[in-house]
Amino acid sequence: MTIAEALGAADLEAREARLLLAEASGFSQASVIAFPERTLSREAEERFLSFAARRRRGEPVAYIVGHKEFYGLELAVTPAVLIPRPETELLVELSLQAEFSSAVDLGTGSGALALALKRHRPGARVVAVEASAAALAVARRNAVKHGLEVEFRHGRWFEPLAAERVDLLISNPPYIALGDPHLAGLGHEPAQALEAGPDGLEHLRRLVAGAARHLNPGGRLLLEHGLGQDAEVRGLMQVAGLRGVRTWPDLAGIPRVTGGKA
Ligand code: GLN
Repeated sequence: MTIAEALGAADLEAREARLLLAEASGFSQASVIAFPERTLSREAEERFLSFAARRRRGEPVAYIVGHKEFYGLELAVTPAVLIPRPETELLVELSLQAEFSSAVDLGTGSGALALALKRHRPGARVVAVEASAAALAVARRNAVKHGLEVEFRHGRWFEPLAAERVDLLISNPPYIALGDPHLAGLGHEPAQALEAGPDGLEHLRRLVAGAARHLNPGGRLLLEHGLGQDAEVRGLMQVAGLRGVRTWPDLAGIPRVTGGKA
């Protein structure tokens, strides 16, 4: 089977088909485009057709190929972790605007936020907390892959921090309300990384409530949230006594990150 025949047989959007073919064959995407008449090896053809079938059944490309780029880092991903989203890069950008010598990423998943922070602030101590042992294994693998010394801790939210205080607390917690139709489209990703009680605020509430006990004076809390949750999250932070509470929009203009200072 030639490249052109394989792409035609895939029955997928052209860009995705090329990406999967490049992964399956080891050819670059540029050569997939430039040499449509090239014949695929038997193994590459079989691998590609199986990738394409998985994609047609709705499996995300990142799980099929096993990696996803986040803030310039190529991260391994498995179905044990949420696939890092481009809008979450805003949380990294805002974090890097602040001065900090210690930071904690709560619910690190693939390690995306913690590893991006460590890459850009190598002198800072960065801790990553994760409740899922399977996710933590993926995050550790990513740290090794990029040679980044993040401290990993297994546990729920603040539990593994004991009485420790830091300069920066960040999290992209689960924030989708049970029953939100959006969840149906995310069935391949871990529910525990997405679902957040009847109003979607269960984990955001817990994170805001615990932040003051774990921030140094002047330290910052930055939390990602969903569309329409910004006013409630600002309210929670104000009630918790944080100062300078405000929200920033993502590149799509959706209020996406809310933060405040201890
Ligand atoms: N932003 C993700 C989505 O809506 C959800 C991530 C999360 O709940 N933290 O697809």
